[in-house]
Amino acid sequence: ASSVLSSLDLPTSGQPINGVFYDAAVGWTGSGEVQRSTNPATGEVLAEVRTASKEDVDKVLKASRRAYESWRTVPAPKRGEALRQIRVAMNERIEDLGKLVSLEMGKVLSEGRGEVQEFVDEMDLAVGLSRSIGGTVVPSERGRHFITEVANPLGVVGVITAFNFPSAVFGWNFSLSFITGNATVWKPAPTTPLTAIASTKIIQEVLAANKLDGALAALVCGGGEAGEALVTDKQVDLLSFTGSEARGRDVSMKVASRFGQSLLELGGNNAAIVLPDANLPLALRAVTFAALGTSGQRCTSTRRLFLHSSIASHFISSLTAAYKSISPSRMGDPLDGKTLVGPLHTRDSVKRFEQAVKTAKEQGGEVLVGGNVVEMQGDLAGGNWVEPTIVLVKDVNQVAIMKQETFAPILYVSAFESLEEAIALNNSVEQGLSMSLFTKDLGAAMQVIGPAGADSGIINVNSSTSGAEIGAPFGGNKSTGWGRESGGDAWKRYCRWSSCTLNYSDELGLAQGVTFD
Ligand code: NAD
Repeated sequence: ASSVLSSLDLPTSGQPINGVFYDAAVGWTGSGEVQRSTNPATGEVLAEVRTASKEDVDKVLKASRRAYESWRTVPAPKRGEALRQIRVAMNERIEDLGKLVSLEMGKVLSEGRGEVQEFVDEMDLAVGLSRSIGGTVVPSERGRHFITEVANPLGVVGVITAFNFPSAVFGWNFSLSFITGNATVWKPAPTTPLTAIASTKIIQEVLAANKLDGALAALVCGGGEAGEALVTDKQVDLLSFTGSEARGRDVSMKVASRFGQSLLELGGNNAAIVLPDANLPLALRAVTFAALGTSGQRCTSTRRLFLHSSIASHFISSLTAAYKSISPSRMGDPLDGKTLVGPLHTRDSVKRFEQAVKTAKEQGGEVLVGGNVVEMQGDLAGGNWVEPTIVLVKDVNQVAIMKQETFAPILYVSAFESLEEAIALNNSVEQGLSMSLFTKDLGAAMQVIGPAGADSGIINVNSSTSGAEIGAPFGGNKSTGWGRESGGDAWKRYCRWSSCTLNYSDELGLAQGVTFD
């Protein structure tokens, strides 16, 4: 652990690491409480971090507002050039940052590195966008009139992130916010501050080398107090929040009550549907990856599996065999390249896993594989380990727990008779993030994609519910919050839009044939 931390210039002993940055002259500071970053695989305390108090957040927001006021007039392609340099610097440290994500969050190394790769990819996208963003020109009904939409920088963007993607989700937001001319203030999850501090240090080095204000990429580590300060402060023009539905509901109402804007990425309860004509070995691999990757702690993890009755028993036996080939032999240290399943993030996550399995059994679910907390040996004995679990559900109306998102590797499996029934099952939950359909039937695929199909924000045909690329907009419908980040038109949310009419005649033309003579 200490070699990973020191490779990223994070102190490994002594005073708590400061988790607040907004001003090169003031340096790294923080006057809030001290929080701990803990390795979920071992229970080892990695570091202590001094967080931001409410007063610190206020200072940061004032500094970020000042930084925005200069940055907004810098031409967008020049902003893109600064981001390109950050991209190069981040990519040079990708191996170390990937290890830090694994160490602090608990996801396996290829996923930790992949997450930082996603940040780098998003910066590539945003650098390109910095030369093309703009509004459309609209034909006017009046002669010698010109109508266009203008995208100006918005102001200060607050970004509150969840523990499970400590790098990539900030990357989506920061990259777009930066090239559209805003200052960004990041509050990471209280359990993953080190990834945020290391990433911010890399960004700050590039900003300093370009004589740019550090408050363009400010950091306020902390928990509810720092988060609440960002949510309620009018100085935050856009609040991008990633986290649980319960917290997201509260956040969105508080932001709306001050007429601020929020961008929400909340919980998922993602389903995979397997039709009888599917490539079953492919479906098996895709479902196993999506259910077990990040130990079931992705917002896009597959949590519900609906199998056509004609292939259900065959698929279930292949799936249980796949689980048994992974657990326990491929469970372990996330930094070991052979590991496929790492720990849960916290002790509380283990309790929620146990409670969900108990409730599922009480409601009539049958545990086919797993279901237990695991006692690991040696260094891993202090970690948060549970068995990947499959629960067979005969009656979906009885097992109500499967309609909730439990952030753990629990997969509920059930059978259906018709595609319409499977679509209805997919849509029967509050959340609407990601879903998968496995079939070779183009008609079935179009039915799922079409107007009477799946209500999910992300639809995959013959591909996993998790593992989206950055080019398409990422986000979910319904209680997932309707947010869209990363690709597509997501950049538009970080702009202040004006519809501008320019009359270049000497007549006052009125629209809709109105006269005022
Ligand atoms: P969480 O809701 O517990 O915490 C999210 C963030 O909110 C943290 O940074 C936390 O410190 C902060 N927070 C806590 N109290 C606050 C307050 N009063 N005001 C403002 N902020 C406050 O979520 P979590 O356990 O970190 O993350 C898991 C959840 O995130 C899951 O539900 C998962 O599906 C969701 N998630 C969604 C996406 C997506 O893109 N849809 C991506 C990742 C995670």
